[in-house]
Amino acid sequence: MLTKLIRRVLKPNAQKTTSAPTSYGISKHGIDASHVSKAALEVCSGLQSSGFEAYVVGGAVRDMLLAREPKDFDIATDATPEQVVRVFRRARIIGRRFRIVHVMVGRELIEVTTFRAEKDEADGVSAKTDEHGRVLADNTYGTLASDAARRDLTVNAMYYNPATAQVLDFHGGMPDLSKRMLRMIGDPATRYREDPVRMLRVARFAAKLEFDIHPHTFKPIEQLKGLVGNCPPSRLFDEVQKLLMSGYAVRTMDTLRSLKLSQGLLPVMDMVQSHPEGETFVRLAMENTDARVNAGKSTTPAFLFASLLWYEVLGKAKQLVAKGESPFPARDAAMTHVLEVQCETLAIPRRYTTDMRDIWAMQLRFEVAAKRNLSILSHPRFRAGYDFFLLRCEAGEQPSHLGALWTDMHAVETREQATALLDDYTSQFASVVEKAPAKKRRRRVAKPMVQ
Ligand code: ATP
Ligand code: MG
Repeated sequence: MLTKLIRRVLKPNAQKTTSAPTSYGISKHGIDASHVSKAALEVCSGLQSSGFEAYVVGGAVRDMLLAREPKDFDIATDATPEQVVRVFRRARIIGRRFRIVHVMVGRELIEVTTFRAEKDEADGVSAKTDEHGRVLADNTYGTLASDAARRDLTVNAMYYNPATAQVLDFHGGMPDLSKRMLRMIGDPATRYREDPVRMLRVARFAAKLEFDIHPHTFKPIEQLKGLVGNCPPSRLFDEVQKLLMSGYAVRTMDTLRSLKLSQGLLPVMDMVQSHPEGETFVRLAMENTDARVNAGKSTTPAFLFASLLWYEVLGKAKQLVAKGESPFPARDAAMTHVLEVQCETLAIPRRYTTDMRDIWAMQLRFEVAAKRNLSILSHPRFRAGYDFFLLRCEAGEQPSHLGALWTDMHAVETREQATALLDDYTSQFASVVEKAPAKKRRRRVAKPMVQ
């Protein structure tokens, strides 16, 4: 009893897990109901009129409180997934780590999650963990209060009920939000051990929201960051994708650096950092992706991941060439090797790795202005390969006049025009144009006549 009390006193950041939330009315929270998507409103009212509880939760509430436009709307409810699908016509259960329901309203997709608990509330059995404390099966239904307690940050654990316009706050999210402070719910070290991805999330929100990290939330990360590498590769990919493809990749990298977390937290970033010569290129690729995301243009993780791992591919290929391999097979083997190593910790889906290989493989052709390479102009991935090559030129890795040549070639309509441009270029830059290696003639060995 006494030791428990002492432990609680010594753990200054242990939040009291109150089951009575603070309720804020519209005059306090100021959420403009017109900012809630129609679809989210419809899903909440559909569930509520069937007798269930339903709230907008997580990032959407946080963003509306900050007067930012939410990326999407998640709904939390006490209805089980089976009950949810019975309420909506266009709904289906998605079984990933935890069964959630996707409800389509018009063209909008709303994710509906049943209240969860970190442990089984009925029998008090804790969730199964691995030897580091990572929760292996986090799929127990719970109450609204337990659902709030298992969320990561206080500012991510507020519930908005559109019917009453009330915000329910179990963990002091509202005061933290006004202080622009990220604070882990519960004991941060335990929460990181349960799910090391939370450490990445803290860094992500620090960059995205430009919030401070509470010292007690920050401190254990330095010691525990190595655990991120133990997470299932598919989870890590989901989280890394959010980190890099949400329009603030550069800021995230800078935040990680300023927090001295750029090394040892994320294996893919460690790999990037082991090639300081590629820093300008990677930064340009991130700036490019951020700009596209923020302009609402399409982006593919394949391009950014190809950029992050490019210098690793180049390095590996160089080693193989030094051992006597010729450039094409060397780069091919290097691509395979880098992807294999990477996918052990970060499960980059195959649809992306295929594109990454295409982008990389095209580079050897862009590097040499020769007739034999004109065929890439009709490659289905030409655009991505070309954009990638231009970034290499911009980073100073390839001559800019070569980039300009491909830009001109891309604009021509016939092969004759392309050939003319090429001839022109070759005469202008004769000294720098690499001569095509003379093809080795295979000696035909006369087959012995079969008698
Ligand atoms: P964003 O707008 O950038 O997507 P978000 O807060 O909505 O931010 P999501 O990854 O979409 O982030 O997660 C939705 C909510 O689920 C979070 O706000 C948080 O409450 C909860 N959550 C997500 N991941 C975790 C985790 N690893 N541990 C605990 N709670 C989590
Ligand atoms: Mg979200």
